[in-house]
Amino acid sequence: MSKRTRTMRDKSAPRRTVAVDGPAGAGKSTVARRLAARLGYRYCDTGAMYRALTLKALRTGISPDDAAALGELARETTLTVEGEHGISLDGEDVSCAIRTREVDRAVSQVASVPEVRRYLVALQRALAAGGGVVMEGRDVGTVVLPRADHKFFLTASPRERAERRQRELEERGCRVSLTELEGDMACRDRFDRQRAVDPLAPATDAIVVDTSGKSVDRVVKELLDLCGLPAREGDC
Ligand code: C5P
Repeated sequence: MSKRTRTMRDKSAPRRTVAVDGPAGAGKSTVARRLAARLGYRYCDTGAMYRALTLKALRTGISPDDAAALGELARETTLTVEGEHGISLDGEDVSCAIRTREVDRAVSQVASVPEVRRYLVALQRALAAGGGVVMEGRDVGTVVLPRADHKFFLTASPRERAERRQRELEERGCRVSLTELEGDMACRDRFDRQRAVDPLAPATDAIVVDTSGKSVDRVVKELLDLCGLPAREGDC
């Protein structure tokens, strides 16, 4: 079978849902994107939605601890997921603008507001309706899609997670020390794990995959195997 045939969507195949959760820098985005491409599914980055709303809060001067104003802001915001990488905020492409350190530092607090989560979880469920989606985040397997066909929780050592984030920031022309990044990420993860609503945690039926020291290809192959879809040459 040609690669083109294999990677094309098989219309008769069941359209599954795949949840990929885990802390920052565990490799979720790259892996989930590749997995979606291989399966012919849509890729959905739920973190980008929390980031976009955070960006709007920062721009409009709403404090990340003003829960009432943030809930109101969520209700009057239009978020559109566009393709693999894109997200638009009230019609503006903010795919790059949401990846700054300012947003990094405020997003967990915004994401801990119950009203914000209610609004975004509903949007995420609507995006996954009908299946054929690989969705990544913190609570996809536990809250957004508790009946997902496959659930993965990716982890990696703190140093490796910080190194990955550093490379990502450097590609955008931003230099930050590893120690500083490690501190930032530990703080964000602690906040995400300890929040009262939808905390970061593996679902009881999720498969935990440690990506430390593994290439993206290797992790994608591992997940494809676990989905019962062994990777073939050229897939990853
Ligand atoms: O995945 P990313 O690092 O872009 O997510 C940014 C932040 O958005 C997380 O640290 C977390 O606070 C929040 N988030 C969340 N639930 C999700 C996805 C992201 O609370 N499903």
